[in-house]
Amino acid sequence: MAAPAEIGKYRILRELGRGAMGAVYLAEDPFIARRVAIKVMRPQVEEGEERFLQEARTIGSLSHPNIVLLHDFGFAGELPYLVMEHVEGTILDRWLSEPHGAEARLRVLAGLCRAVTYAHSRGVLHRDLKPSNVLVRSDGEAKLLDFGIARVENTRMTATGVVLGTPEYLAPELLGSGKFSPRSDMYALGLVAYELFGGRNPFGADTVAACLRRVLEVEPAPLAAFSSAPAGVATEVMRCLAKDPQVRPESPERLLAAIGGVERVERAEPALAAGPAPAPGPA
Ligand code: ADP
Ligand code: MG
Repeated sequence: MAAPAEIGKYRILRELGRGAMGAVYLAEDPFIARRVAIKVMRPQVEEGEERFLQEARTIGSLSHPNIVLLHDFGFAGELPYLVMEHVEGTILDRWLSEPHGAEARLRVLAGLCRAVTYAHSRGVLHRDLKPSNVLVRSDGEAKLLDFGIARVENTRMTATGVVLGTPEYLAPELLGSGKFSPRSDMYALGLVAYELFGGRNPFGADTVAACLRRVLEVEPAPLAAFSSAPAGVATEVMRCLAKDPQVRPESPERLLAAIGGVERVERAEPALAAGPAPAPGPA
């Protein structure tokens, strides 16, 4: 699909990326000269219009610093489009291949934990958490995108989401008769965290079949054994990866607390290293 010159009132500048559901363009609102990101549905997506509307209603109901903001929704001819905040940054996939310190990685993870906590508190499950659905802004803050198969609890369109998920991030219960629950999002969050510190998804394989088998059978090596992840964080991440959803944490609360603990220690350390603080007194 070649980039159109305009969509609705928006002037298209260039393509930003594409995924399963559609193409995303950088565009400009001609009236207020604001840069936006516009996602246009691919014509051939099954149930696409309903999914797009659902994505719009879902993100439209969320307002959080770590979740991409929705500005508008419309139709270009027959095809629905979403107008979002343009997030200037790097997709987490690529960000992971660049050198970043532990502090930057913890910051990304903390942002994702907050986004998930907030979405879950509003009854929204993301259902497709993975590095290609996370943007890291140039200032280091993470933004969760693509609520394309998210579902507000108690609405329709259930099973399709499972089929669309990337197998490496699919929770094992979804390959059986299990239902998607907040703990399935926790599993995917744990895998993204595992990759942030361990450098790889432990279930990656050459074929979909091999990958699905690994999801069901392979116990990932403990993160603490081979990565630089702080011990408390590594423990919490491994709890998220339990095959049995009942054993996983229901929310990112403890993971976030573990990250907060590390940040407090790091903030305290420079002062200790510099020796005792000088006694306060008149200058
Ligand atoms: P899909 O549902 O097709 O997977 P996504 O919403 O994941 O679509 O977007 C596809 C790609 O477009 C992303 O991986 C990212 O590179 C880019 N993108 C999406 N939304 C934005 C945005 N708001 N700002 C900047 N880039 C974006
Ligand atoms: Mg996507």
